[in-house]
Amino acid sequence: SCAPVAPAAPSTTAVPASLEVLSAGVRAPLAGGGDVEYAALDYAASAPVLRRVWEEVAEYAPYYGSVHRGTGHLSRLSTELFERSRETVAAFLDCRPADQVVFTRSTTDSLNLLAAALPAGTRVFVFETEHHAALLPWARHGHQVTYLDAPHSPRHAVEIAESALAARPEAGGPALLCVTGASNVTGELWPVAELAAAAHRHGARIVLDAAQLAPHRPVSVRRLDVDWVAFSGHKLYAPFGAGVLAGRADWLTTAAPYLAGGGATRVVNRRTDGGVHVQWAEDEARHEAGSPNVIGAFAIAAACRALTEAGHETLVAHEQELLAVLREGLAEIPAVRELSLFGPAADRVAVSSFTVAGHDNGQLAVELSERFGIGVRSGMFCAQPLVRRLLGASAESTEECDGPLQALRVSFGAGTPREHVTRL
Ligand code: PLP
Repeated sequence: SCAPVAPAAPSTTAVPASLEVLSAGVRAPLAGGGDVEYAALDYAASAPVLRRVWEEVAEYAPYYGSVHRGTGHLSRLSTELFERSRETVAAFLDCRPADQVVFTRSTTDSLNLLAAALPAGTRVFVFETEHHAALLPWARHGHQVTYLDAPHSPRHAVEIAESALAARPEAGGPALLCVTGASNVTGELWPVAELAAAAHRHGARIVLDAAQLAPHRPVSVRRLDVDWVAFSGHKLYAPFGAGVLAGRADWLTTAAPYLAGGGATRVVNRRTDGGVHVQWAEDEARHEAGSPNVIGAFAIAAACRALTEAGHETLVAHEQELLAVLREGLAEIPAVRELSLFGPAADRVAVSSFTVAGHDNGQLAVELSERFGIGVRSGMFCAQPLVRRLLGASAESTEECDGPLQALRVSFGAGTPREHVTRL
């Protein structure tokens, strides 16, 4: 039934002004007529933009200019802001002094860049539970990939990785473990520091997919001791179109540039044999050919500043309070089953997927939108082997994502009022 929407009850955790979102108060039409405040509960796909980020971008916009070789005032200013954005991101991620921060289009782009930059013959290890962006780029670039089975606990994940790394036949050759910090399906936190230690014990490197971790928890490259980290601006309360790959410079500096073109070169000249000779840049510009997304980089830096200023503890407290409300509410509905790898006690960010027995979960998502103004996500969330397994199909099943092979996902964060969760 289309129950009336309860009046908003304020969350008991105070959310600072720097974490206000632009979408607050937006109204959504209801299928039965009228409208309601839109409940954005799909942050894991794309989080709303922070008001602070939008304001900083608007303040900068009049000074927008092409970066790097422009000599005009606005070009110089934009170049400075672009390069300073790199420093802000490096500080946000607690990078090592020699690390590079490459601006990309997204996490997908960052991981594809790294896949293209790995030395020939790198053996890649990746859990089958990963988002497709972390699962698929490696084989495409000709690397030999070992797909690791889904673990049943964080400790089990470390054991699986450790024994696979130890058993690799070409010990001593380059190897990479790719792992997520927080699952985009279950929200569960992965033991990143332990996995990094295991990788390093066996002479391998590790890349952290922080697409879901960075918006919810602090990420310290140094403390976790990861070699690279990737994340997307649009999940970190910045607008679409920019992402980051940060980490060790060596493999990035020796690899062929991700894209060939202007900006990535130092010297280009005709050779006496008639060909063209190129000396590529050795800093981040090597992998940033073409005119960069200056506004995107600036917006990511603004989001990093806002999150740092508010303090992750504030955000974590807010999210954990709402997560408890969500899980309490879901527990009252016997048909609901939450998806989990590590069990109900696992530490998790504000992402939860579940099924409602006896219902088409895709249709439920549509009805949540049309009848209650609630935006969630349904499907397999670009992590098909994992969701197939969690839904009781085999990870190898080939049915398409519809009918029974769908779950609902709820995710939230800064700016989510308690009422949006209780309405759900
Ligand atoms: N990794 C994880 C864990 C994600 O949740 C996502 C997006 O949902 C990605 C990677 C890909 O991010 P993007 O679509 O911004 O490239």
